[in-house]
Amino acid sequence: RPRFRLLGELLSQWAEQRGDDPALVFGDRTRTWAEFDERVRRLSAALAGAGIGRGDRVAFVDKNHPAGVEVTFAAAGLGAATAIVNWRLSADELVYVLNDSGAQIVFAGAELLPVVASIRDRLPAVREVVVVGGEDDEFEALVAGSQPRTEESEVDEDDGVLVLYTSGTTGFPKGAVLTHRSVLAHGTAVGTAFPLGPGDRNLVAMPLFHVGGSCYAILGFLSGEPTIMTREPDAPSLFGALAAGATHAFLVPAVVAAVVQAGEQAVAAFARIKYLGYGASPMPLPVLRTALTAWPDTKFVQVYGMTELSGAVTTLDPEAHRDAAHPERLASAGTPVPGVELRIAGPDATGEVWIRTGQRMAGYLGKPEATAETVVDGWVRTGDVGHLDEGGFLFLSDRVKDMIITGGENVYSPEVERVVAEFPGVAEVAVIGVPDDRWGEQVKAVVAASPGERVDADELIAYCRERLAHYKCPRTVDVREALPRNATGKILKRTLREPYWQDRSRGI
Ligand code: ATP
Ligand code: MG
Repeated sequence: RPRFRLLGELLSQWAEQRGDDPALVFGDRTRTWAEFDERVRRLSAALAGAGIGRGDRVAFVDKNHPAGVEVTFAAAGLGAATAIVNWRLSADELVYVLNDSGAQIVFAGAELLPVVASIRDRLPAVREVVVVGGEDDEFEALVAGSQPRTEESEVDEDDGVLVLYTSGTTGFPKGAVLTHRSVLAHGTAVGTAFPLGPGDRNLVAMPLFHVGGSCYAILGFLSGEPTIMTREPDAPSLFGALAAGATHAFLVPAVVAAVVQAGEQAVAAFARIKYLGYGASPMPLPVLRTALTAWPDTKFVQVYGMTELSGAVTTLDPEAHRDAAHPERLASAGTPVPGVELRIAGPDATGEVWIRTGQRMAGYLGKPEATAETVVDGWVRTGDVGHLDEGGFLFLSDRVKDMIITGGENVYSPEVERVVAEFPGVAEVAVIGVPDDRWGEQVKAVVAASPGERVDADELIAYCRERLAHYKCPRTVDVREALPRNATGKILKRTLREPYWQDRSRGI
């Protein structure tokens, strides 16, 4: 059960109890809890002065910056929500998302100004654009030019605080409205898997526009220990954070893979991480095994979840990662965190994963039909297929939309990907269904080779045939330079499938 009802309460508590302690480290700048709290109250006053109130939205679009968090807390104190928008979007995508969010004020990173300026006249609801960072830092001027707000607004725990867009892996991104209740329930429940104590520092490296950034940051704030935020999860930033004392982190598998492959020095530096969370997409087992060996003292936590649930709902805890009695559980997404009910829908042992929890979003912003399709009687239909083992560990098989049906048999693409990934020379793989006149769909592997290696399609297919049932084996192999990924590092299978399905419907 969360200790706090509203997001702002955590800030006031730490400002009171540990005002002079570091709260947020960003580059060479450290702010204490008292400073954090005061800046947020100044910003609240500025937002209220600009007419922002309960039920309104503002937007933040930039690479990671403390301003993203400060705006979120400031708006939340007024009952307003902050849409944190993916800074990698193209101009047209930005127009769509910013208009969809209904934001009246947009905080935009100085680097993003050219694109924001180019679309400014296509954003009818936006009254003001405030530049964050750069030479003319309007954000800092706003903070400096306002008095800290002292009055309290009427705010309810079911008011939205964040609008985070789903990654757009399977379709158009949808804005999930997360509330005080949902993000605090997440931070409290998942926080038990990432215990932060004196001397610890939480690393927020994943983008704030993703739950792995913003909701993971809130999880850390709840502990009262300092957070180190990096602008991006690239190598120099990660090393900087390690040097600054980071002990806990959440990274997506693509970033963990990059660290593991970054050479001896990088690998050695990472050994000081005490708790390493990973998730958001399937973790290749070879990478995980290498990491487990390279960092014997690190506690690994796999998380499974989604934007609609404020982040993680199951965790594979450190003990299970090194459990000699159950090596197969390395491929499991683990067990539900406190407060989460999980069931497999349908008559079979394998089916769609449904979740019921206080971490649930209020709904998709402005999309009642999509919300009604996803939330049924309080249960969230995850769109992921899985089953539970006898110990209640969740094994994900695939997304419903990525499953391949060939000759009436279900093929779960990750099962095939795990085999292909072990083939020498394969760096990246996606297994997709392409049309087949006789079988409906046939299995295709799309791979990228490791630098300096080549992958022979026939040898790869033969390798799979020794290890997988015939109907699961790729019938064809495409070799590419690299696979298309979205900003959270997820492979875009719909982009890979598209050219094959142009004149046909795939049903789902
Ligand atoms: P969209 O909903 O727009 O298609 P998305 O589902 O990728 O995009 P997110 O909410 O960021 O958007 O991701 C949630 C999904 O990520 C889950 O439904 C699941 O398919 C996948 N996922 C999350 N954690 C894991 C994990 N540990 N292992 C495998 N897959 C995971
Ligand atoms: Mg989704």
